[in-house]
Amino acid sequence: MHGNTVDGHAAVGVADVVKVHGRGDTAVRALDHVSLDFPALRFTAVMGPSGSGKSTLMHCLAGLDAVDAGVVRIGRTDLTGLSDAALTRLRRDRVGFVFQSSALLPTLSAEDNILLGLRLAGRRPDRAWFATVVDALGLRPRLRHKPGELSGGQQQRVACARALVGRPEVVFADEPTGSLDSRSGAEVLDFLRTSVRELGQTVVMVTHDPVAASYADHGVLLADGRVAAHVPRPTADTVLAALAGLGA
Ligand code: ADP
Ligand code: MG
Repeated sequence: MHGNTVDGHAAVGVADVVKVHGRGDTAVRALDHVSLDFPALRFTAVMGPSGSGKSTLMHCLAGLDAVDAGVVRIGRTDLTGLSDAALTRLRRDRVGFVFQSSALLPTLSAEDNILLGLRLAGRRPDRAWFATVVDALGLRPRLRHKPGELSGGQQQRVACARALVGRPEVVFADEPTGSLDSRSGAEVLDFLRTSVRELGQTVVMVTHDPVAASYADHGVLLADGRVAAHVPRPTADTVLAALAGLGA
């Protein structure tokens, strides 16, 4: 229903965005004239020191937070003109989310957690796509388990399946491996990469971990609410060097 953009358009982007938190003396300019395009069918990592504006950027991109100036675009839709109801629909139908904590419902099986969002939206799951996602994540033997019966890594893989099952135009992941051990984290990162390379998805991931960023196709560094550098085909070493180059 919501095909990914294939006509060369960026999947999502911001143009000259300003976002200020708070007012008066305590106002913080979290995004200071940021312009970025996140191409379709690409895995992009957004990096930067704590407080550099990574989460603010993601919240603005996803329509969770309104900007003070500039344009935010998902596909051909400018989010800055939308009503709250339209933004809610857009998030439900066109965007997937993975957060640091998987936030699964404890009384539902893994399968029901994965499908809950679609059911609430009155959308019929595409069973073939569901099977593709579940198999790519190795979750088939776990579908009847409740979250409490799964490891942290398995729970986060369920959260990934929940984000992808509606075939969103873009998946936003904010520190998706932040609460996982390195092996479970690697499984989640492997899957995010696979979802882009083999399943045709588009992923924007916030991370402060250079190893996590090395799974992405492209890295963007923020510092003090501005785009400080781009790191094409990032490795842990080139990301570390770029972070060091910020002169922090
Ligand atoms: P990051 O995710 O890179 O750590 P954030 O986007 O969370 O950075 O924060 C950017 C800046 O905005 C920081 O200085 C932070 O303290 C400030 N900030 C973030 N959210 C709020 C808020 N709700 N109210 C006030 N200041 C905020
Ligand atoms: Mg953050």
